[in-house]
Amino acid sequence: MDSRKDRNPGAAARKLVILDRDGVINADSDQFIKTPNEWVAIPGSLEAIGQLNQAGYRVVVASNQSGVGRGLFDMAALNAMHTKMHRAAAAVGGRIDAVFFCPHTAADNCDCRKPKPGMMQEIARRYEIDLTGVPVVGDSLRDLQAGAAVGAAPHLVLTGKGKKTQAEGNLPAGTRIHDSLSAFVLDYLAGEPS
Ligand SMILES: [Mg+2]
Ligand SMILES: [Zn+2]
Repeated sequence: MDSRKDRNPGAAARKLVILDRDGVINADSDQFIKTPNEWVAIPGSLEAIGQLNQAGYRVVVASNQSGVGRGLFDMAALNAMHTKMHRAAAAVGGRIDAVFFCPHTAADNCDCRKPKPGMMQEIARRYEIDLTGVPVVGDSLRDLQAGAAVGAAPHLVLTGKGKKTQAEGNLPAGTRIHDSLSAFVLDYLAGEPS
């Protein structure tokens, strides 16, 4: 057993995709997504997660959920939303490996609320991988900034707040733009070395 190899897994072990949740996997709302009923998948997004899994990628979510810190919904409601998400994904052959979330508000000044890179660093620790070049897919600038801060590859989708984010510009260098998560997956897997 080569222990050094274990500590430095190769490209295969780095087959990870990090997704924002609201506006990427499910429809977003300015009123926040507060209940499982309000959690509605964007057409094709869960199937796209399944396609990533089929291609050998693990998919994780990194999501700001300040509605918890604002008292708009509690942890039980957040867990129930995620149970719905996992079940809906499983129903179409998709698997979300883990959900990382920040429950804080901006006023809490935590390290995990995007654009801070705390959740990215936690993912890197949990999976024992370097996130260099790992795709981070989001609809808001702060998603892309959190990814870029750790050397991940920023991908903007035009669902959710994506069109507004694109119009506002100032995107991190190298940001690639896709119509939706399903379009990202098609583009990304097509560009994968075989
Ligand atoms: Mg979002
Ligand atoms: Zn936080």
